[in-house]
Amino acid sequence: MRLDAPLRAGEVALVGAGPGAAALLTLAAASLISDCDVIVHDALVSDEVLAMAATGAELIPAGKRGGRPSASQADICDMLIEQAKAGKRVVRLKGGDPFVFGRGGEEVRALAQAGIRFRIIPGITAGVAAPAMAGIPVTDRSVNATLAFLTGHEASDESRMDWQALAKAFPVLVFYMAARNLPRIASCLLGAGLDVQTPVAIIHAATTEHEQTNTGTLQQAAAGALEAESPAIVIIGDVVTSRTIWRDET
Ligand code: SAH
Repeated sequence: MRLDAPLRAGEVALVGAGPGAAALLTLAAASLISDCDVIVHDALVSDEVLAMAATGAELIPAGKRGGRPSASQADICDMLIEQAKAGKRVVRLKGGDPFVFGRGGEEVRALAQAGIRFRIIPGITAGVAAPAMAGIPVTDRSVNATLAFLTGHEASDESRMDWQALAKAFPVLVFYMAARNLPRIASCLLGAGLDVQTPVAIIHAATTEHEQTNTGTLQQAAAGALEAESPAIVIIGDVVTSRTIWRDET
């Protein structure tokens, strides 16, 4: 099956919308978004991408954002199944890649269990796109042979992270959902032995008109001196020093 073949009635496509700019959609994402009956989308999906929806397509917001109440995951799965059973051609649109901190796995399992036909279209994940916009290579031969993607939500008191093991195994750490917890994350990493001068970048709203990059040290981050609003990607490690600014920044 071609990934960009038109959806059949009753089929669901779990589609990665990329980080924001419509130019970073895959060809399959672009053609499915512009030819479907229903788009069930996350809060993170940009207006520019949603503007590509077919005229007449129904747009249903179903995202969670910053702790605000929204549809539960079970409700979202039920809605997708319901729409498909009604014969609709459904695009389930998620920011970045559906399987990177996106709960796409749960939705796919629910669809499979309900016997719904579906396909999966990967997207460019923010953890790669945001550093690229800032001119930061997520791997650099002289810096790292490993790379970790993490969620900043885990940096709570009952942290599931083994900070020492992380600091040892991964010279470069890329955190999603880390804007609010950055001081705590940085403190944990300092506690695990990382150098106070370790460079940190925080990139807000990458690839959109609101994009903003701030850089500093781990010590500054721990002190709360490095801030950005959500959504933001935090990247920690010496690759931040290899940064080459290649676009105008505000
Ligand atoms: N599935 C998504 C991630 C969802 S988790 C993906 O693959 O990118 C939500 C987090 O993604 C946000 O808290 C933020 O850390 C990150 N994010 C998504 N879009 C972003 C953007 N345009 N700029 C910076 N961070 C972004």
